[in-house]
Amino acid sequence: MRDELVKYSRRMVQDRLAFGTTGNLSVRDNDLLWITPSGIPFDEVDANNIVGVEIVSGKIVESPARPSSELPLHLAFYRNQPDIGAIVHTHSEYATIFAALGEPIVPVHYQMSLSVYEVNCAPYATYGTDQLAQNALKTMGSHDRAVLLANHGLVTVGSSLTAAYQTALDVEWTARLFYRARSIGNPRVLSPEEITAVRDQFRHYGQHPND
Ligand code: 13P
Ligand code: ZN
Repeated sequence: MRDELVKYSRRMVQDRLAFGTTGNLSVRDNDLLWITPSGIPFDEVDANNIVGVEIVSGKIVESPARPSSELPLHLAFYRNQPDIGAIVHTHSEYATIFAALGEPIVPVHYQMSLSVYEVNCAPYATYGTDQLAQNALKTMGSHDRAVLLANHGLVTVGSSLTAAYQTALDVEWTARLFYRARSIGNPRVLSPEEITAVRDQFRHYGQHPND
C-alpha cells in the first residue's frame, strides 16, 4: 500500500494534479489508514515517509514523518463512510478555479458521470481543521465521490486509490472543459436522466469476452 501511495504521488506530478507540496493521498488498510507526509513534495515522497494512523482513535502507529495536515479530513471520511477505500486531495488548477468561485462543476460532458453527477462546493474553512472536514463530508453526501473545498481545492474518494485517482482526473478534465466552453458560450448541462442512461451504458463499456 505504501508503494501504491508512492506510485500515485509520482503520477500527481506527471498529471499536473499537484504543484510542490499541495494535496495529499491516503488508503484504508483494515483499521488503519496510510497517508502521505506533510510538506514533502510529491516527487520526494517515498515508502519510508508514509504515515500509518489508527482510524477510530486517530493514534499514529507508524510515524517516520509528520502526517498530512489534512489528516482530520481523511479520518472523518473513513469513519463516516465504510465503503471508502482511498482519498485523493488536489489543488488542481481548473477544479480550484470553480472552488475559488464557490460554484459547482456541472455535467457538461458525460466523462465524470460514473462517480458524480455534479461536484458541489463545501463552505470555506481553514485547511487542516475539523471544521473543513465536517463541511466537506456534509456537502459530498453519501452517493457522490467528489467535493470542492471553497477557495482551496478538490477531494475525491473511491473504493481504491485507482478509482479515487481516476475521479480526480475526470473532474479536473471536466472543469477545464467547462471553463473553456463557458468562455465562448453557454454549455448545455446533461440532465440526471441522461446521466443515469450513461451509467447504464457504461456497464457494457470496453472488453467483455463473455457478453
Ligand atoms: P500537506 O502537505 O500537509 O498534506 O498539506 C497540503 C494541503 O493540500 C493542505 O490542504
Ligand atoms: Zn489542500
